[in-house]
Amino acid sequence: MAGNTESNVKALQEIWRREENALCADCEKPDPDWASCTLGIFLCFDCAEIHRNLISISKIKSIRMDCWEEDQIEFLAQHGNAKAKEKYEALVPSYYYHPVHTDCLVLREQWIQAKYERKEFMKPREKPPYFNGVKEGILWKRGRDNGQYLPRRFLLSEREGCLKYFIRQDGKEPKVSIKIDTINAVFQPEKIGNPNGLQITYLKDNKTRNIFLYHEDGKEIVDWFNAIRAVQFHYLKVAFPVASDQELRNRLTRNFLKEGYMEKTGPKQKEAFKKRWFTLDHRRLMYFKDPLDAFAKGEVFVGSREHGYSITKGLPAGTQGNFTWQYGITIITPDRDYLFTCEKEREQQEWMTAFQHIIEQPMTPQEYAIEAYFKLKP
Ligand SMILES: [Zn+2]
Repeated sequence: MAGNTESNVKALQEIWRREENALCADCEKPDPDWASCTLGIFLCFDCAEIHRNLISISKIKSIRMDCWEEDQIEFLAQHGNAKAKEKYEALVPSYYYHPVHTDCLVLREQWIQAKYERKEFMKPREKPPYFNGVKEGILWKRGRDNGQYLPRRFLLSEREGCLKYFIRQDGKEPKVSIKIDTINAVFQPEKIGNPNGLQITYLKDNKTRNIFLYHEDGKEIVDWFNAIRAVQFHYLKVAFPVASDQELRNRLTRNFLKEGYMEKTGPKQKEAFKKRWFTLDHRRLMYFKDPLDAFAKGEVFVGSREHGYSITKGLPAGTQGNFTWQYGITIITPDRDYLFTCEKEREQQEWMTAFQHIIEQPMTPQEYAIEAYFKLKP
């Protein structure tokens, strides 16, 4: 656009190239080329789009294409991403989830609104909605078998270390009570078909169960997510008093490493290959008939290389051809081989990368316990 003088362009470039502005202020995507000239931060295109909804707070401009006034450039020079972090993220709790560029919209949107609009991390005296030790409210929950979403009362209690839900809103006895240390919560808008869809996976008697939830309000569902993380964090803090906050943070909710359809065969490797939905949650490879099933049909534990686990591309020679998909993967465990096929080469590669990532990591004592359980399983 016309109007940028040569000296303005030069000044802007100089601020833009500063180390502190090399990543998007909100999602850490490299090379942000948009900026908020009222907040004085550099943003990626997607975060800039979210900022456009904060009309009274953030005014967005392109570094490359828009015309910049001298005083706006001066403002950017005085501020920048490092100062904004100090100011707007001063009091982010250790357990609070920091979204990245690949996260779903509701997480990125709420992070931006929490920081700049609600200024949640600047006010030390106010108790945030995710840190009271108790959270209660109505969430829409998918019916186990009929797939219908119905309102259910949920109660998260730090004192009891569990998340419960009730069929009747005034009921005293919960339908299900889930121990906090067995919960994983993952946003799954596409799978659930709702922009605020949250999947909660938990273990009961060492079996994986799924529940699918949403709330109409993005803030409310993200508050639930961070409330679960808060309770988990405090629970771990007591269980592992010497662990650092960073170590504990790594053990809160985690994204699945990969999900998608593959075909699998049975233990004799002569059975017909069946198409299943697979979810890799750290070392647990679960499979389901349908992505929204409440229970896993089965699970494979993926240990470490030093413990006898490995992965190879393709199927063993002579595997009988009951499979429709061509791109094979074999997981070798101390007990048996597991054979899978993928529809596309790209998917085969993604699964291989995910499995290799897990296999190369040493196992923790807790993971030895899970492995032992899998070995005992009939
Ligand atoms: Zn961004």
